[in-house]
Amino acid sequence: MTLAVENALRDGERVGVRCEDGLIAAIGPEVSSRPGDETIDADGAHLVAPLVNGHTHAAMTLFRGSGGDLPLMPWLEEKIWPVEAKLSDEDVYWGARLACAEMLRSGTTRFWDMYWHPEATARAVGDAGLRATIGAPLFDLGGSPAELREMAHRGLEALDGFGPEIAPALAPHAIYTVSEESLRWIAELSAERDLPVQIHLSETEQEVQDCLAAHGARPAFYLDRLGLLSERTVLAHGVWLDPEELALVAERGATVVTNPVANMKLAVGGVFPYPAARAAGVAAGLGTDGAGSNDSLDLLADLKTFALAQKHAAADPTAIDAAEAWAVATGAAAPRLGATRLEPGAPADFLLLDPRSPELGIGSLTADLVYAASGAVVDTTVVAGRVLMRGGEVPGLEEVVVDAAERAGRLGL
Ligand SMILES: [Zn+2]
Repeated sequence: MTLAVENALRDGERVGVRCEDGLIAAIGPEVSSRPGDETIDADGAHLVAPLVNGHTHAAMTLFRGSGGDLPLMPWLEEKIWPVEAKLSDEDVYWGARLACAEMLRSGTTRFWDMYWHPEATARAVGDAGLRATIGAPLFDLGGSPAELREMAHRGLEALDGFGPEIAPALAPHAIYTVSEESLRWIAELSAERDLPVQIHLSETEQEVQDCLAAHGARPAFYLDRLGLLSERTVLAHGVWLDPEELALVAERGATVVTNPVANMKLAVGGVFPYPAARAAGVAAGLGTDGAGSNDSLDLLADLKTFALAQKHAAADPTAIDAAEAWAVATGAAAPRLGATRLEPGAPADFLLLDPRSPELGIGSLTADLVYAASGAVVDTTVVAGRVLMRGGEVPGLEEVVVDAAERAGRLGL
């Protein structure tokens, strides 16, 4: 199957793209369609790399709009965990389908997910045509390390047999919900099978105080002591990482994914210290977190919040510039997250942005994308050479919206 895009605009230059077998076969001013190609006339649309959502819980779209004004622990303990205990495969499937639809509409084509029934999320990602790294959440608080090991193996087995678009991961929930013994075991399994590890870390100041009291070390040093801080590790949040921790995270090659909107909504009281992290050489990405705590999955909108929060916290408008913020959102500032490069041989994943969007007509495109645009400027989304959205239309969207709402309604939230 071949797809050709003509008349796209990249860095001010008219270019074409030909995609074969899911990869970019050719890209440049001389590239045009050939007989038999599925052809898109981009009509001057901006060709850009898609966004990578580095941390989410896709099916939590089902929790959107409920309990959103509570602090983190009561929100989890009273609202989320009791309902999650009764979620079915089909609930997770439709919640994740809704998330996928929202993400591809707003320019995200790859995401990192941690959620129950990971096989249902994988099925949703496959049916939607996106890419994801997925892990079953692992807890042993209130359970046992033996049960956790069984959960981990079950999760990995369930993710077996999906295509290359789905990558399995280990997803210990956090240092306050997983025992030291289990975290050590997860570190060994990750090394043995070369599996990425996703974990929430240093989200609240309380977590840091509790870690110091229980383990005599700050969270990043504690993880490192257990062998769990490596180039395979993706840390969600990192709000309270101090300079010594940032240096350690950089040295180990781990990635930090900041989720500024979720942090602000849950009012954790700080922001990920991005300028210090950059100076230390930490790989950084951007995430929305789950729709239960954001409540949007529009990473392009969150990008503005990220940049502004960094400038505001630093009391310095030069703390981050638009090009750097864009690199963080597309995964280009964190090799592990899976950024797409627009070049021959790379996966044929890209966006066409509507050049007639009011937000994109004036000024630098990158600055407009960071400070003015939302996901609404995305006209066309292509993943692996397949057109998932064209002219802002996602086939089957209505059914996804109705079915997800029906599932959420049945959960009685
Ligand atoms: Zn999260």
